[in-house]
Amino acid sequence: MSTDTSPLLLDGRALAESIRSEFEPEVLAMVEAGRRPRLVVVQVGENDAAQAYIRGQRRGAEKWHLDFHLEVLPGDSTEGGVRKALRALNADKGVSGILLSLPLPDGLGTRALQHEIHPSKDVEGVHPENLGGLLWARYGLLPCTALAALALIDKSGIEVEGKEAVVVGHSEIVGKPVALLLLARNATVTVCHKFTADLAEHTKRADVVVVAVGKAGLIAADMVKQGAVVIDVGINAVPSDEGPGRMRLVGDVAFDEVSAKASAITPVPGGVGPVTVAMLMRNTVLAARGMPRPDDPGQLPLFA
Ligand code: NAD
Repeated sequence: MSTDTSPLLLDGRALAESIRSEFEPEVLAMVEAGRRPRLVVVQVGENDAAQAYIRGQRRGAEKWHLDFHLEVLPGDSTEGGVRKALRALNADKGVSGILLSLPLPDGLGTRALQHEIHPSKDVEGVHPENLGGLLWARYGLLPCTALAALALIDKSGIEVEGKEAVVVGHSEIVGKPVALLLLARNATVTVCHKFTADLAEHTKRADVVVVAVGKAGLIAADMVKQGAVVIDVGINAVPSDEGPGRMRLVGDVAFDEVSAKASAITPVPGGVGPVTVAMLMRNTVLAARGMPRPDDPGQLPLFA
């Protein structure tokens, strides 16, 4: 697969579409039976930064024939008030999945409120029970971006067993769950982060590099090995050549130079992002189906 000039471009839009079409017959059957899966996004107060994500989630839900509802709570809501709203959604049989939009206003406990979402409706995979299932390799609903990174590797037929995988970034939502998923695929996993003394020393020996940091150009060509598989999760807005004040989105990887060495690489945009949205919709359908809990005997394979 490895060539000097033309890596395999891991096309997230195509993968997102294939996941959607794989689930479409099941979704249409649910709709037909009057059980259209419903995704509820809970937003507390106005949050401009979250608007682009929420638009993407709404568009994703429409494409997947899912019902989408944005529930906006007042910006001065108390933690108790948000808890109450989440409990009502937990109890509502018509609601399949709940997503708590972040960041929350100051004074509200993110973890405490994520913990309030019932694990069977936790379509972002952030409840400790679902994260615990990740550690056990017995899966409930898993974090969407981590699933997306693994799906881009898996669905391209890239085998990671016995390979050196380096994850750059150790957030709870991306880096740590990606590392656990790669471990479950029997890769040898190193996790790097902002305190790692010599990042390049690690990335240079990686067969697979997953980068989730949020720093444009962090990974340069001299930091990756010839033939590496490179998954770029980062999203950064940088000034565009198109004119003053215009911005464009790039990842954490210096795409042009790294793609000359990689055997496979994700673009930004069009890589991990669209698959993340597809995974959110997939999780909503799984939740509507009735997910096994991590300790249930009937476990789903990771990509059923
Ligand atoms: P975060 O801020 O929670 O974590 C950043 C991580 O990067 C931390 O673990 C930190 O230790 C590490 N880090 C910071 N500087 C570093 C350095 N110089 N060298 C090595 N590691 C360093 O971020 P996050 O929520 O995990 O998101 C990471 C990036 O992924 C962001 O750009 C975010 O926008 C993007 N993201 C993309 C998607 C998607 O769907 N494509 C989804 C979620 C996040």
